[in-house]
Amino acid sequence: MDIRLSCGSEVQLGLRKMRMLAPTETIYLMTRGICQASCSFCTQARSADTGSLSRVTWNVWEFGDIVDCLQGQKRVCIQCLNYPAVFDDLMEIVRQIRAPVSVSAQPFTLEEMRSLSRHVDHISISLDCFTPSLFERYKSFYNWELHWARMRKAVEIFGRRKVISHLIVGLGETEEEAVATMAELVDMGVLPSLFAFTPVRGTAMAQTTPPDLGAYRRLQIARQLLVDGTVAAGDIACRNGRIVSYGTDILCHVGPRTFMTQGCPHCNRPYYNEVPGRELYNYPGPVTEERVRKLIAQAGVEV
Ligand code: SF4
Repeated sequence: MDIRLSCGSEVQLGLRKMRMLAPTETIYLMTRGICQASCSFCTQARSADTGSLSRVTWNVWEFGDIVDCLQGQKRVCIQCLNYPAVFDDLMEIVRQIRAPVSVSAQPFTLEEMRSLSRHVDHISISLDCFTPSLFERYKSFYNWELHWARMRKAVEIFGRRKVISHLIVGLGETEEEAVATMAELVDMGVLPSLFAFTPVRGTAMAQTTPPDLGAYRRLQIARQLLVDGTVAAGDIACRNGRIVSYGTDILCHVGPRTFMTQGCPHCNRPYYNEVPGRELYNYPGPVTEERVRKLIAQAGVEV
């Protein structure tokens, strides 16, 4: 069976020589197939079986040729495309991996999730969009209510904080809406994981601009405070949809991990939606205290 392996993962596994700006801690695989979902922001939507997802290049490998390299890794994550045989392909892959495994996928049935949970310790069912109307606009293949229902079931099967939902900042949501959705996910036991919208040439949204860095910082801080239980959604004050204060002294609670890639343990996705040389949205590793102060300043809120 063929699969795709992210370029950074190839380097990490010693299968490719290339200078990396930051090493990946997790090895990322992607199933091969023609994705039926066609989400507007996704590079997999433009044509069949492309070798890219967000800014990352993914090369084809015979799974049998790389499976030995995966054993004992800190984490292996499998990104699933939506095609009829995907679950069978996925099970064939996860059965052979001896390492902590995450799966990022469309909502599977309860029976499928139960089978997966014997081999996989974390699952992501991504809303991608913060509101039902954005979801309908950009992920019209899917159903908002069904995503929430399956996330709820996934928490029962995998456990609290073992279910992730990726959310893309910059699709048209207000910060207030983003806070409300993140709070609901956290209450339910799902960990929100933020990414910045990345315009990619050839996609329907190639001309859309990436999110404002200040807004992204404000949401990273809100996410951290909500996940830690430091504040509830109602403590975060917004004016005209923008966060203006958090109802707590953020300097006591915000630290290097606030600005790092969030999700499963060891998931750092270096430069997944960042442009080398420009300010990073998600940091792939810890940042210095001095940098933390600068990142908080970028948020432009009262401290
Ligand atoms: S948080 Fe990272 S490791 Fe976990 S499912 Fe998402 S991409 Fe994979």
